[in-house]
Amino acid sequence: MRFLPAGMSPEKLATIQLEGLRWTVRHACQNSPFYRRLFEKNGIDPEDIRSLEDLQRLPLTDKEDLQAGYPFPLRSAGFDELVRIHASSGTTGKRKVLSYTRNDVEMWADMFARCYELAGLTTSDRVQIAVGYGLWTAGAGFQAGCERFGALAVPVGPANAEMHCELMVDMETTVFCSTASMALLMAEEIDRRRLRSKIKIRKIIMGAERCSDAMRRRIAELMGVEHVHDIYGMTELYGPGTGIDCHFHNGIHYWADYFIFEIIDPRSLEPVAPGNLGELVVTTLRKEGSPLIRYRTHDITRILEGDCGCGAGFPRHDRIMGRTDDMFIYRAVNIYPSQIDHVLSRIDGVGSEYQIHLDHGADGRDMMTVKVERSEQASAAEDQNLARAVSAEIRRKILVRCRVEILDPGSLPRTERKSQRVFDRRNHEN
Ligand SMILES: [Zn+2]
Repeated sequence: MRFLPAGMSPEKLATIQLEGLRWTVRHACQNSPFYRRLFEKNGIDPEDIRSLEDLQRLPLTDKEDLQAGYPFPLRSAGFDELVRIHASSGTTGKRKVLSYTRNDVEMWADMFARCYELAGLTTSDRVQIAVGYGLWTAGAGFQAGCERFGALAVPVGPANAEMHCELMVDMETTVFCSTASMALLMAEEIDRRRLRSKIKIRKIIMGAERCSDAMRRRIAELMGVEHVHDIYGMTELYGPGTGIDCHFHNGIHYWADYFIFEIIDPRSLEPVAPGNLGELVVTTLRKEGSPLIRYRTHDITRILEGDCGCGAGFPRHDRIMGRTDDMFIYRAVNIYPSQIDHVLSRIDGVGSEYQIHLDHGADGRDMMTVKVERSEQASAAEDQNLARAVSAEIRRKILVRCRVEILDPGSLPRTERKSQRVFDRRNHEN
């Protein structure tokens, strides 16, 4: 292994994390007026941070803190030391701009090279990059990491499928990096043009978008690839490359020597029990330009317990299950639509479209009804059994009772934008 450090034990990671945490808090306090004010307001002296448990004493930060500090929020290094900015488009308010020092840029490339290594690439691989370049971080990260790793980068960006197909054949591309929807589009294009025997793709690395198992299977089948990997990251955290799944595809290994990942309940803001779903909160350990301290990502996931068979020694988090805004509470259980999605995707006879309806039942208790389409292949005569199977599986996996209605294929509305899944008609004042 050239980029993945060997011998990472939980004890060793904890030592690195404490050192990184203490450095980050001191660095931020000394160099950023924002953090200095925040710590003063909360009565924090950087020297009070003596153990990893002390992390809990630090206040949470959020996207509003980045937007309020526009144009250089959280900046903790002099302009002489900064070499680059990246920004993510805020759907509301100002862009979130992040500053990078030379060290930040170098470390990001190192982390990304680890991702390629864990995904099993070699220096003979040819990596076609189909994500955006520019202000937005994705392309720059995929490319710098590829060059650091030593594979051949084919930096195309989000061009049309025709150009991608042509280069994929001519450059003998072996790894394709894109969003999930772009990968699906390419897979269908390759199939349509009967290019499968002319391409040499063996791996796909996908970022930035949630993707169902069904979609993943379809991409892998049509392109004839061995592995589809998920890469995680966000502009606030350097960019993509903070972690990736290994060939076991059992969660995303993340670089715990660069970050502390906590999972909190997005309503109570308290840590959740180990292994439970909640909001990912990140603290950077070495970031100089714009360090993050207990930054709320609003991404929903969980920390996976136990060791992975690959022996990488880095902890894992689950795939991103959605955003905190999608969460609803039903009979005191926090539920994310993607959990229902996940259960449905594993039951034969169920189609891809569903809705979740929340009402008050006759007894005044909350009632949840899941409406789901039967698949094209399934028979309406089996609807009752199918409904029972769905309800039992939801009870088993999510621990709540619900009603299930099976609908004809095509009866729920389709949209090109994100479909509305949850219809909550409960009276929240009670
Ligand atoms: Zn692994």
